[in-house]
Amino acid sequence: MNRIIYFFSLLAVLHFFGSCQKSIQADCPQLCDNDSLQHQRKVLLIGIDGCRSDAMMRAHTPNLDRLMQAGKYSLSVNRGDLYTLSGPGWSSMLTGVWPDKHGVTDNQYETSNYTNYPPFLCRVNTKSYCYKIASIVHYKDFNDQIIQSCQSDVVLDYKEDAFVAESATNYLKNCELDIMILHFDQVDYVGHRCGFHPDIPNYLNAIESTDALLGPLMDALYDREINNNEDWLVVVSTDHGGKIDGSHSNQPYDPEVTRVFSIFRNKNTLDTGLMPYDPPIVAIAPTILEHLDIAVDSSWNLDGQAVEM
Ligand SMILES: [Zn+2]
Repeated sequence: MNRIIYFFSLLAVLHFFGSCQKSIQADCPQLCDNDSLQHQRKVLLIGIDGCRSDAMMRAHTPNLDRLMQAGKYSLSVNRGDLYTLSGPGWSSMLTGVWPDKHGVTDNQYETSNYTNYPPFLCRVNTKSYCYKIASIVHYKDFNDQIIQSCQSDVVLDYKEDAFVAESATNYLKNCELDIMILHFDQVDYVGHRCGFHPDIPNYLNAIESTDALLGPLMDALYDREINNNEDWLVVVSTDHGGKIDGSHSNQPYDPEVTRVFSIFRNKNTLDTGLMPYDPPIVAIAPTILEHLDIAVDSSWNLDGQAVEM
C-alpha cells in the first residue's frame, strides 16, 4: 500500500517538474529611465489558434461575450485567402500586411521579410517612449520566429494554455506593462483531432475551456482599469478556421478557414456590437498603433486601416 502511495507521489512530482520548467511567477520588466512618461493607453492581444466564429458563437463563452458586448466585433474577418496555416495568419495579424509583403507562406518562416515589414511591436519603441512588452504563448514558434524580431521584455512559452493564462494573470496583477500578447493553442489542437466545427462537442468544449481561462486574466485587467485609470484596448482574434475533417492547411478561398472573428474593446468603445463591415486581419496592427497614439507612417506600406474605436 505504502509502495503504491509512494509510486503515485513520485508520478505527481515527476509530472510537476516535467511540465513546469518555467516559473509562473511574474518577473517584472525593469522600469525605463524615462518612465515619468507614463502610458495610460495599453494593449492586450489575445490569439486563440484555429477558432471558428460559428463555433465560438455556439459555445458558452461568458468572458468573450462580455468583451463583445462592451466592444465591437466582426464574425467574417478575412484572414487572407491564401496560405491558410498559422505562420502566415499570425504574421499578417502582427505586421499589418499580407504575405506578399511579410513573406511568410508556411510554418517554416524561412521566407519571412520581417526586416522590411516587422511586427507592430518593433514600431513602438522607435519613439522616445519605452513600452514594456510581454509575449506569453503556447505556440513556441510564435515567439521564436515572429516576436524575436522585435525587442520584448518578457518572452515566455508554455506547453499548456492554463500556464499561459496563469503567467499572464500574474504579470497583469504585479507588473508595469504596456503591451501583452497571448497565444492559446488548445482549440486548434482539438480541432485537428476531432474536427473544427460547431457540431463537434469536443471543439466547443475547448473553446469554453479557453474562455474560462480568460476569466481571472480579464478580472486583473478590469481591476487595473479601475484602480490605475488605465485605458486598455483588448483585441481577440485567431489565425484561421478549419474544416470538420480536422484540416485547415491548403484550403484557399474556403470561408470556413479564411473568414474568422475579431473583437475590439476599449473602455469607451463607440458603436458597440456587430460591426457594419468586416475589417481584415491586417487591420489589427494599425488599430493597436492608433490606440497607442503612434502615427502610422505611409512608408511602412501597411495594408490595413485602423478600426475606429
Ligand atoms: Zn494555427
